[in-house]
Amino acid sequence: MESVGLKDVPLKSLFPDAPPPPGPNAPKLKVAIVGSGLAGLSTAVELLEQGHEVDIYESRPWIGGKVASFQDKDGNHIEMGLHVFFGCYFNLFRLMAKCGVLENLLLKEHTHTFCNEGGDVRELDFRFFIGDTKIGAPFHGLRAFFTTPQLSPADKLANSLALGTSPIVRSLIDPEGGMKDVRALDDVSFADWFKSHGGSQASIDRMWDPIAYALGFLDCKDISARCMLSIFQFFATKTDASALRMLSGSPADRLLAPIADYIKAKGGRIHTRWGCREVMYDTDASGRPTDVSGLRLTKASEEQIVKADVYVAALDVPGAKRLIPEAWRKDAFFDNIFKLVGVPVITVQLRYDGWVTEMKDEMLKRKVGAGEGYGLNNLLYSADADFSCFADLALTSPVDYYKEGEGSLMQCVLTPADPYMAKTNDEICAEVDTQVRKLFPSAKDLNMTWSSVVKIGQSLYREAPGMDPFRPDQKTPVGNFYLAGSYTKQDYIDSMEGATLSGRQCAYAIVADVDTLAQKAAAAKAAKVAA
Ligand SMILES: Cc1cc2nc3c(=O)[nH]c(=O)nc-3n(C[C@H](O)[C@H](O)[C@H](O)COP(=O)(O)OP(=O)(O)OC[C@H]3O[C@@H](n4cnc5c(N)ncnc54)[C@H](O)[C@@H]3O)c2cc1C
Repeated sequence: MESVGLKDVPLKSLFPDAPPPPGPNAPKLKVAIVGSGLAGLSTAVELLEQGHEVDIYESRPWIGGKVASFQDKDGNHIEMGLHVFFGCYFNLFRLMAKCGVLENLLLKEHTHTFCNEGGDVRELDFRFFIGDTKIGAPFHGLRAFFTTPQLSPADKLANSLALGTSPIVRSLIDPEGGMKDVRALDDVSFADWFKSHGGSQASIDRMWDPIAYALGFLDCKDISARCMLSIFQFFATKTDASALRMLSGSPADRLLAPIADYIKAKGGRIHTRWGCREVMYDTDASGRPTDVSGLRLTKASEEQIVKADVYVAALDVPGAKRLIPEAWRKDAFFDNIFKLVGVPVITVQLRYDGWVTEMKDEMLKRKVGAGEGYGLNNLLYSADADFSCFADLALTSPVDYYKEGEGSLMQCVLTPADPYMAKTNDEICAEVDTQVRKLFPSAKDLNMTWSSVVKIGQSLYREAPGMDPFRPDQKTPVGNFYLAGSYTKQDYIDSMEGATLSGRQCAYAIVADVDTLAQKAAAAKAAKVAA
């Protein structure tokens, strides 16, 4: 745990205290969770540890939601998206530690790499040593921003002015106060905030836009300052927060299967291919929903009604909009969810017969089958391509992606994906391939040997200015119905960490209500017997 910086855990709102273990006579609830993304899995783990009975229902054939991956008929691992773990993923690391999979994370060099057209690679380098002494936050960050060759001296100066007058500075001495200031910047775009603090458009173009696209799939003029600054305050105050890790292989095998095993070992059950079609509920005299009474689920032509004491919708935004009964929208709490929208994103994998990012050594570039790959082994950003971030998975996550006799597996995240959504997979791959070669001209004579495209019409919720108030709490106005999901109210951005945190918040809200929920469950059972 030390190695992933849990010693550095931040504010309570970002890392809540777990409730004490249940006493011997603590009530045991039957909980039905819809959705097996990280939010649903995290909720399940917490509730199982509190002694409750948990069933997870997932409409897809596999678990994991947006983190999922699956193998095609030829054994290629297809991912929903490129997933990178920042050093400040305290809730996710805690979950991974429970499931014994922290060692599946590979730590990359502590630098953020920008790949410009023509093979021009420049770093935002957080590695700061004086002699053998590692210098940490905030000095490593200050040095990284002062020395990065990605920006001109004037832009670096303007950058420092903007960041030096941001809530980040308050966070250094007063983390709660800094977070409050960050939350208050939800109404303004990062671009407007940054420029009003002296930041330059050139910095946005060359550095901040690729980062904003990577974080929220939006550019700086469309993303809220809250979203960006909530990450940067971590980067500034926690030495390892900006360090990047990637899974050693596919998310299905290296992350999700071990979490599923942990859930099953604790008595939890996961039912894939069971999609929830309807939430059934009781109403009061005025027609207001009081409690959920069951879920109607289908699997192909089969149907079942699931009854539980507590129901959790651990969904993405489109899933939540489909499931929430229309009548519930009379309550602003639920209607607000319909104001949130998802951002389209496309993940493209391109396999080559050599090493795309190995630009120095012609022999290594062609050397396949040596049991290792060559080139840039990190997350890569670019301001000169339609994919803002990308990585060679054969290098970063070699366990499942390195293949003997083959070269790079470039995984590129197209954002904004809107202009590409209507194109064919072949067209998309051809355009991404052209752009890869523009960034790495030394790869011009390599052949693309395989490709895959995954389009997600609505992925992350659009963290645009002013959207935060529409995010729902985990506890809802309907008695035994709770929400989880990265889009629900939590202080981190829409991410794996945000999803895991939302699951913890959801489970702890249920635990806080356990006595009332148990009484209601007992009353419902008694009424059923009487009937
Ligand atoms: C391309 C891409 C790249 C990303 N990169 C990163 C990254 O580098 N780092 C990072 O931290 N985050 C990243 N993210 C974000 C991260 O994946 C998400 O924030 C997180 O996984 C969301 O988890 P969730 O559980 O809230 O929702 P989801 O993962 O969307 O899970 C919701 C689940 O509910 C299921 N469901 C929906 N409706 C029903 C129904 N009616 N019945 C049953 N099941 C249903 C869905 O099938 C899905 O499995 C990325 C996302 C994408 C798309």
